[in-house]
Amino acid sequence: MPYVVTQSCCADASCVVACPVNCIHPAPGEPGFATAEMLYVDPRSCVGCGACTTACPVGAVVPDTALTPEQEPFRELNAAYYDAFPHADRAPVAPVPPQRRLQRPRPVRVAVVGAGPAGLYTADELLRHPEVNVDVLDRLPTPYGLLRAGVAPDHQHTKQAAGLFGAIEEQPGFRYLLGVEVGRDVTRAELAERYDAVVWSVGASADRRLDVPGEDLPGSASATALVGWYNGHPDHRDLAVDLGHERVVVVGNGNVALDVARVLTTDPDELARTDVADHALAALRGSAVREVLVVGRRGPGQASFTTPELVGLAGLRGVDVVADLGGAEVVGDDLRARVLRELAARTPDPARRRVVLRFLASPLRLLGTDRVEGVELVRTELVPDAAGVPRAKPTGETETVEAGMVLRSVGYRGVAVPGLPHDPVTGTVPHDRGRVEPGTYVAGWVKRGPTGYLGTNKSCAQETVEALLDDLDAGLLEGRVRQAEDLRTVLDRRGVPVVDLAGWRAIDREERRRGEAAGRPRVKLTDPGEMLGTAASAGRRGRRRLSASSR
Ligand code: NAP
Repeated sequence: MPYVVTQSCCADASCVVACPVNCIHPAPGEPGFATAEMLYVDPRSCVGCGACTTACPVGAVVPDTALTPEQEPFRELNAAYYDAFPHADRAPVAPVPPQRRLQRPRPVRVAVVGAGPAGLYTADELLRHPEVNVDVLDRLPTPYGLLRAGVAPDHQHTKQAAGLFGAIEEQPGFRYLLGVEVGRDVTRAELAERYDAVVWSVGASADRRLDVPGEDLPGSASATALVGWYNGHPDHRDLAVDLGHERVVVVGNGNVALDVARVLTTDPDELARTDVADHALAALRGSAVREVLVVGRRGPGQASFTTPELVGLAGLRGVDVVADLGGAEVVGDDLRARVLRELAARTPDPARRRVVLRFLASPLRLLGTDRVEGVELVRTELVPDAAGVPRAKPTGETETVEAGMVLRSVGYRGVAVPGLPHDPVTGTVPHDRGRVEPGTYVAGWVKRGPTGYLGTNKSCAQETVEALLDDLDAGLLEGRVRQAEDLRTVLDRRGVPVVDLAGWRAIDREERRRGEAAGRPRVKLTDPGEMLGTAASAGRRGRRRLSASSR
C-alpha cells in the first residue's frame, strides 16, 4: 500500500527525514528541492510504513487506499515525478546531517522579530542548541503569521501546521513577546544591545499595485487584503467588501488568486465548518456573486498557480470551474496540461456559481465613477524577451467586463524595515545566506521575497541559522550584549500589554471554546482589544492560582 502526497503538501520535508527507505523526493539538497511545488512518494519503493504520515505537519500524506475521488489525480502526480526523475540514481538514505554544536559554548540570546512560519522555524532551528534562548516578538497579539491570516479557511489541512508550531513553543528557552511592535514599543537599538543576534522574519506585508486608472475606486482592493479580511486579520477586519454584484474579477493567476476565487464561490455552509472570520461568513452568506473571473496576462503554460492547487480547484464540488484559454494552446500531456484542457472543454451550468480561468488578457483600466462597475481588458499575445521568456504584449484588441469588485492578486510586496538595507525592486533585505551583517539576519519573505510554500521556510530558516552559528563560532558576536536588563522588564515598565505563551494559549482556548459551541475548529477573535483582554485574564488566573498555593 504506497502512500501518496496530496494537495496540502507544505514541502517542509519532515516526511523525507522520517522515511526509512528514502522514497520521498526531491529531498533537501537535491536539485529541484528549493523550487518544488510539492514532494512525491515513489510508489515502487514505498513500503507503506506510514512514518511519513506521522511526520507530516499538515496531513498531506495518505495511503493510496484512502484517497478521495478529488485526491485521485495525486496518485498519478506522485508517480509521474519518478518517471521524469528515476529514483534509482539517488543516494540510498535521506541526507540527515549530524547535529551541529557550538564551538564556543556560552549562553546566547536571540530575538526573532515576526512570529510567522519563518520566525517559528528559525526559533526551532536555534533551540536545537541548549545554550540558546529565543524571544519571538510580533506586533499582533497572536502568532503564526500567514498560517493564521493567509492560508485559506477551506485549507484546514494546512492549518494543522499549528500543531507543529505549538510543539516549537513548548521547548525550553522559547519565549513569546507578542503584541510588541519594534519601532513603537521598543527601538531597534534597544533590541540590538540586549541580544547576541536579531533575526528579522517580518514577511512582505504590503501588496503590489496594477498602476492602472481607476485602481483606487471603491470596489477595487488587493486580494491580500481580502485574504486578511476573511481570515480575521485585525488590520483588515473593517475592509469594505461589497458582494452585492454578480461578478468579481481577480487580476493575476497565482495561488492567492485561486484561494480568493474558491472562497468567494464556495457554499457558505461549507465555509461555516472552518475558521473563516464571522464577519466574512455573514457577508458571504448574503453574497450575490455568481462568477469569479481570474484573469492571467500570459498563457496557461505560464500561469503562476501550482499544479496541486489547480487539481484541487478543478475537483471542487458545488462550483463550476472552467477555462477560457483566450486562443492560447495548452502544450504537453502531463496532468496539469490535461486538467487545463479538460477545464477548457467544460460547459458551465448557469444555475451554479463558477470560476472562470481566463488567459491572455490584462486590465487597461477599472471602470466606474463612484465605484467599480467593470474593467477594460486588452487581449495579449506572448512575445519572448531577451532571455527567451514569454512575456505578455497587448494586442490592442479590448473588451469590457462588468464587475462589482476587482481584486488585484499580483503578489505581496516587502516594505522597508527602518534601519535595515532595502532593495526596492525585490522588496527584500540584501543578505548573504540570511546574514545582513554579523548580529543581524533575515529569514522568510523579507529575505527571499514572496515565494514558496509554508515548508519552504524551514530550509530558509536552516540556512539563516547556519550563518548565525558560523558568526558565533567565529567569535563575531562576542561583546554585543551591553544591557543586562531583560526586554520584558522594559516593556512592563512602559505599560506595553505583552502577550506571552500563556496569554496566547488563553486566546487559542477561547477561540476553540467558541468554535466547539458552533461545530467549528475555532471562532477567531479579531479585535486586538478583546485578544489582549482574553490574554490578560490568563495572567490574572495564573497569579490567583499562585497566591492560593502559597497561602
Ligand atoms: P504569484 O504566484 O507571484 O502570482 C502573481 C500573479 O500576478 C502572476 O500571475 C503574475 O503574472 C501576475 N501579475 C503580476 N503583475 C501583474 C500585472 N501588472 N498585471 C497582471 N498580472 C500581473 O503571487 P501570489 O499568488 O500572491 O502568491 C505568493 C506566494 O504564496 C507564491 O509563492 C504562492 O505559491 C504562495 N501561496 C501558496 C499557496 C498554497 O500553496 N496553497 C496559497 C497562497 C499563496 P506573470 O506571471 O505574468 O507575472
